[in-house]
Amino acid sequence: MKITLLNALSDREECINKDIMGGYGAATRIGNSFLAKLIESRKKSGVKLPIFALGHIAAILSNKGHQVEYKINEIPLDSDLILMPSSIVDHKIELEYAQKIKQQTKTIIGFIGPFASVQPELYLKHADFVIKNEPEQIVMEIAEGKIPKGLVDSKPIQDLDTLPYPQWDIFPIEDYSYSPVINKKPFISILSSRGCIFSCFYCPYKAYYGNWRLRTPENIVKEIKYLKDKFQIKGLLFRDPLFTYNKERAKQIAELIIKEDIDIEWACETHFDYLDANLIDILYKSGLRGLNVGIESTNQEILQKAMRKSATIEKQNEIVAYCHKKGIRVSAFYIFGLPDDTEESILKTIEYAKQLNTNVAQFFILTPFPGTPFYEKTKDKIYDTNFAHYDSYTPVIHHSKLTKEQLLKLKEKAFISYYFRPRYILKFLKNRIK
Ligand code: SF4
Repeated sequence: MKITLLNALSDREECINKDIMGGYGAATRIGNSFLAKLIESRKKSGVKLPIFALGHIAAILSNKGHQVEYKINEIPLDSDLILMPSSIVDHKIELEYAQKIKQQTKTIIGFIGPFASVQPELYLKHADFVIKNEPEQIVMEIAEGKIPKGLVDSKPIQDLDTLPYPQWDIFPIEDYSYSPVINKKPFISILSSRGCIFSCFYCPYKAYYGNWRLRTPENIVKEIKYLKDKFQIKGLLFRDPLFTYNKERAKQIAELIIKEDIDIEWACETHFDYLDANLIDILYKSGLRGLNVGIESTNQEILQKAMRKSATIEKQNEIVAYCHKKGIRVSAFYIFGLPDDTEESILKTIEYAKQLNTNVAQFFILTPFPGTPFYEKTKDKIYDTNFAHYDSYTPVIHHSKLTKEQLLKLKEKAFISYYFRPRYILKFLKNRIK
């Protein structure tokens, strides 16, 4: 079969990445002021991640002899099957494309991804099937010629080592980047695990990927070697949220990278509590140059109510200072609008972010993604049902202590007051010179 992996992207002016927020996607909307637009455009030019699932799908289908291509915003006229990734931020354009394809061709269309998994009725209006959950098991059946119909459940792969490496050669690798955390290119993403051991009630990633499953260090490092040899990859981002949860395993991965003498700069996401100086030293030696950490809020009570595990302020300061000393760029994520947040608690979080002075700070607004426990709990408080606004930067639910206008103002203030400070600008310039 000729199979097209079709990514329908809108021309929204914000930076859209469909592969973040557990695959629901986000659109970096900071505000309307000149400075806000400046930050938005910097984010847009710096961060461009591949849709990870498509890499695996391409490999599974190609390995069975199918001809697979990747297209953006095109109507393929000679395909036998079109598979489209769904997202909450761009669902409208995805549906428009599916509708146009159905009007102009007889090609079978299927959707994958978390948003289609939880809102299949939206997609099935214009598509032949929707794969619910991680798609690989059903894609393996498609590769054997079994085409699904309607909503089909896909069983998550338990042994991730059995998956083929993503087939990136049909994707525009030269476009992908993760600046300013990893500045080396060619750049690509990699997964060392799926799922999470925690259950933060608002988390879209946990809602889709469920329980934690791990690849072996040997399998991961073999893939890194393959990425180096085949695509000359110089920069890498581990997309799993708790890369160092098992410190011994993280150390083994680093030791194997060193043993294999792989020259690569990489970044990962983790939690402060699963880091220490010894581990950072070995990870650094193997190429760690970027660290993503979720801080969310400085208020412990608010975090506990969100079932969010939080490290002490001392631990956060200690790890950030150690990383900065070594030259590891830190990206910190904060969330505004958590239940019980107040203007005062958010202002404290903004001040704390400035004091930490990480290389990147991202200020999100708590969003009730369909499929999460938070969505179920707050359904009756939602005042904006336009899913295109569920972009992680726009308030869509009534908050008991903050208005929509307050949240938007605080978010814009956070970004502008963070990035346009002499202390940050100095750090940014130093980082550019290195
Ligand atoms: S730690 Fe919480 S927010 Fe992070 S992936 Fe796990 S469940 Fe989600």
